[in-house]
Amino acid sequence: MIPTFINPPCAVIYTVRDWTVVPTGDKVDTMAEIELTPHVEEIKRVLENKVDEEVIVNELNKYLNEYHVTLDSAKRGIIRKYGGGDVAAFTPAGAVVKKIDELTGTEQNVDIQAKVVYVENKSITVKGLSKTIVSGILGDETGTASFTIWEPGSVMLEKGSVYNFKNCYCKLWNDKVQINLGNRGRVEPASGVSIDLPERTIAVNSSECKIGDIRDGMGSVTVTGRIVTYEARNVMVKGEPKTVYSGIIADDTGKIQYSAWNDFSLKEGETICVKNAYIRSWKGIPQLNMGDRCEISRVDSVFDVVDTSGSKKTIDEITRIGGGLDITLEGMVVDMRAGSGLIKRCPQCNRSILNGVCTAHGQVNGTPDLRMKIVLDDGTGAIGAIVNRKDTETLTGITLKAAEGLAMAQGEGVVAREVAGKILMKRISITGNVMSDDYGPSMIVKSASVLDVDVVSEANKLLDEVEGSL
Ligand SMILES: [Zn+2]
Repeated sequence: MIPTFINPPCAVIYTVRDWTVVPTGDKVDTMAEIELTPHVEEIKRVLENKVDEEVIVNELNKYLNEYHVTLDSAKRGIIRKYGGGDVAAFTPAGAVVKKIDELTGTEQNVDIQAKVVYVENKSITVKGLSKTIVSGILGDETGTASFTIWEPGSVMLEKGSVYNFKNCYCKLWNDKVQINLGNRGRVEPASGVSIDLPERTIAVNSSECKIGDIRDGMGSVTVTGRIVTYEARNVMVKGEPKTVYSGIIADDTGKIQYSAWNDFSLKEGETICVKNAYIRSWKGIPQLNMGDRCEISRVDSVFDVVDTSGSKKTIDEITRIGGGLDITLEGMVVDMRAGSGLIKRCPQCNRSILNGVCTAHGQVNGTPDLRMKIVLDDGTGAIGAIVNRKDTETLTGITLKAAEGLAMAQGEGVVAREVAGKILMKRISITGNVMSDDYGPSMIVKSASVLDVDVVSEANKLLDEVEGSL
């Protein structure tokens, strides 16, 4: 292990500025200023102080600016060149430093200095426990990317401020790089550093798209749609009263929830072109946000709005998108999970309870309920779905009363088996909201029906396909 570097004994402090290694004086003002010094020191140490500091700095300059390699590669190259013994044993002391447009989505340990363009706290559920994560968008001179801090602790990020995000790892999602900070990650304010985001990094991505194609991570979009619903609500934001305007906007491919902090005088039934709106997701459900950069213009309606009872998607489509409102899926029930059948709910909070104990209210007298946790497969993928009592009764023909009777006579386990027997391998249609968490997307079913497979028309359809391909 390389010892942690606390007081740089270098006479001169080096830093990378626009990828040029320059001496910046003997005062350490910011975290950025000492960025390179430990690495120079480390190379000196590995080379047993046989190579002058000046030579090392010149080499670093060459590697970083002429060869455009990462800091780690540069260090390895220099050590190899000056015969620094066992290069393989050399462990990089720190992460690679990268600009946002250099990120490939495969980084395991990378440092990024960036400005917080957008930030919010999100609540997620992990193994039944609710926790808060911080996510948003980071930007530097080269581009923007979304980020998530999984263990934020007491970290408070301020929109518009610049920070050093240390020991990040990156992933690709829908061809976009996502920056993650896990247990090892650290965030430090980069005081005195300012980053100017070129207009284009936010505006350039604003591409016209259909509402049905909108997905998380798209950034800025331009859509045309009809206002289906509209409401103005007064909310408190940081102790100040504000009005939020929200509702549903739809085109001929889908619908999406929108929200705006500015009063654009929207009216139900009118068709608008929304330019430079940005996409954020709540539990995987994309939402259209009309922020300060947003421009709205009224246009003549040129399409029929999608049937608002539900937009039909394949499971593969909805899994790629991450979520959506009033989605209809059709497929076969291939599995039923634990927690299905007869359950008890807390009379105060309606949570399902185990052994008469509510996680919030302790010992309670539970109310009986019936539900199913099914897995639906449509050939393109599989998704979990929670079916309420009414639809469980419709789909299986087993009523709550019958289930209670069965449980009294033969035990609760029998109910789950009976319910499973009625629904497994049946083709059904379900409509509801699809949301994502750590386990992927799942649907809270609002309505469901059994699909009667019309054998004759299926056979004719197949025949048509065969004839069409001849
Ligand atoms: Zn409760």
